Amino acid sequence: MAVERTLSIIKPDAVAKNVIGEIYSRFEHAGLKIIAARMQHLSRERAEAFYAVHSERPFFKDLVSFMISGPVMVQVLEGENAIALHRDIMGATDPKKADPGTIRADFADSIDENAVHGSDSPDTAAQEINFFFGPDEVCPRTR
Ligand code: UDP
Repeated sequence: MAVERTLSIIKPDAVAKNVIGEIYSRFEHAGLKIIAARMQHLSRERAEAFYAVHSERPFFKDLVSFMISGPVMVQVLEGENAIALHRDIMGATDPKKADPGTIRADFADSIDENAVHGSDSPDTAAQEINFFFGPDEVCPRTR
């Protein structure tokens, strides 16, 4: 399996629940390394741009409002098979369908407010990492 990088966002609902450390701990226990991180409060324009792929969906307006309702914690995770592994740890989009022990099963309240985001393919991961981080903000481990 290849070493991959993926973009993770801890969404405003989970930041408000004060579970950033708990979620980081799940990443680390799964073998994912945090190689970039920033807390920020997204502007409406940035949130719309990030979710542009969903702009025609009925939930788009509410999704953007939710994503700007408070700060988010954004990070790059690196590890073997990181993209799929991260999606496994997150659980299904709808927390009611998420496996027990996943982040969404434990911390998300609804499909609209579902605690975390994770890239879903190598192309999306590269795009989403570039959306948030410049090359000198990503710090792979050298020891
Ligand atoms: N979403 C929503 N309502 C829906 C479906 C999706 O609010 O009925 C939001 C939800 O926050 C989800 C995001 O849109 O995480 C992106 O949807 P996607 O299907 O890509 O799910 P994900 O990749 O986040 O599991």
